[in-house]
Amino acid sequence: MRVGLPCSDVVLDLPEAERLVREAIDSGRMERAPALRLAQRLSDPRIHKIACEGARESKLRHKGDVVTVSRNVFIPLTNLCRDRCGYCTFAKPPDSPEAKTYSLEEVAEVVRGGVATGCTEALFCLGDKPEVAYRSHRDWLHARGFGTTAEYLVEACRIAFQGGMLPHTNAGVLSQEEMAQLRPWNASMGLMLESTSPRLRERGMAHFWAPDKDPAVRLRMHEEAGELGIAFTTGILLGIGENDAERIDTLFAIRALDEKYGHIQEAILQPFHPKPGTRMRASPSLGDDEVAGWVAMARLVLGPKMNVQAPPNLAPDALERVLAAGANDWGGVSPVTIDFINPEAPWPTLVELRQRTEAAGGRLRERLPVYPEHVLGRPDLFDPRVRDALARFADAQGFARLRDRGIPPRAGQEAA
Ligand code: SF4
Repeated sequence: MRVGLPCSDVVLDLPEAERLVREAIDSGRMERAPALRLAQRLSDPRIHKIACEGARESKLRHKGDVVTVSRNVFIPLTNLCRDRCGYCTFAKPPDSPEAKTYSLEEVAEVVRGGVATGCTEALFCLGDKPEVAYRSHRDWLHARGFGTTAEYLVEACRIAFQGGMLPHTNAGVLSQEEMAQLRPWNASMGLMLESTSPRLRERGMAHFWAPDKDPAVRLRMHEEAGELGIAFTTGILLGIGENDAERIDTLFAIRALDEKYGHIQEAILQPFHPKPGTRMRASPSLGDDEVAGWVAMARLVLGPKMNVQAPPNLAPDALERVLAAGANDWGGVSPVTIDFINPEAPWPTLVELRQRTEAAGGRLRERLPVYPEHVLGRPDLFDPRVRDALARFADAQGFARLRDRGIPPRAGQEAA
C-alpha cells in the first residue's frame, strides 16, 4: 500500500546534498523543495548519512546531549472506537470479549500504581467517540451520568490529577469545548496528525473507514488547541500509504502550526507495523534505516528546537540510529503498564534505555508529560492549577523531580 516516488527521477549529488543540509543547520529550517529532493534520495546510503549527521548536529547545537523520557502509566480508558483504521488492533467492537471501558475505580487503581513507582504522566489514550457508533456505550455512559466519552474522560483526568499524576490526553478528535473542559486537569494533550494526505481516505486506503482521520478535521483540532493554549503533541505515522511528498507536506503542516501558535511540544515519528487480523496485515513497513532517515528529515524541517520523538518499542533495534539522526526524546515508557496500542511491542526498561542512550553518546533525563522549556518558559500553556502542580513535580531545570517527591532511588532509574 505504501507509495514512494522513484528516487531515480531526482538528481542530487553529494556536494549539493551537503550544501542543503548545511544551510538547514545554519538557518534552523529547511524549505520544502530541498526537503523533498533530499527525502527522495534517502535510499542512497551516502545521502542518508549526510542527512542523519546534519540532523544530529542540529539537535546537538540546541539540545546538547540530553535525551528525554517520560515515566508514565498508560490508561486506555475505552478501546471502543467509531473508526476502523486499516492498521489498528486497539479498537474492539462492544461484543468482543476484549472490549473494555475502565471504571473510575480502575483508573484510580492504575494511578495509585503509577504514583507508587515514581511515574508522573497518566497517559489517557482511547478510541474516538464510541458513543456515536454504539448504543450500548451510550447507555453505559448515561447510566453513570455522562453524556459523552469526553465528559467521562474529564472525570477520569480529574481523578488522575488529584491522585498525584499529570494527565496527558490523546482521545482522538475533540471539539474545542471538550478540550477546554479537559485543560484544567491536563498538562498536555495530543493527536497524531498521521498524514495530511486526503488520499488515505480513499477506498482501499488506511483511513477509508475512519472519518476522524480526515486531515482537515485533525488540522482544525491542532489549530483549536493552539487557540486555547494547550501544550500539544502531534506526529506522523510512517508507512500507511503516504508517499514522500505527502510526508514532507505533513512535516510542513506541523511546522506551520507551531509557527502560528507555538504550542507543538513534540513531533512523534511513529513507524507503522503490519498486524495480523488487520486490513493492512500484508503491507510492508519501513526499514529501520528509513525510519532513521525520516527522523532526520523531521529534525531538518522542524528545526533544532522541536522535540523529535522516536518510540523505542517500535524500532527497538534502531535506538542508536534514531539518536544519530537527531531524535531527542523516547516518549512515554512505563514500568507499570504495557503499550496498549502496540501490545506486541514491549517497552525497554528504563535501565536499558539509559544504557543504550549513554552508549550512543546521550544523557537520559526524565521529563514530565511536558518538556522543561515549556514548564519553565511557557506558563501560558497551562491552567493555573496545572501550573502549580508542575512547580511541585519539576526540578529547577524543569525535568521530573524524583528524590524529594519521596520516590526511592532505584539503580539506573533515578534522574541524572
Ligand atoms: S481512530 Fe485510533 S483507535 Fe480508532 S480505529 Fe483508528 S487507530 Fe484505532
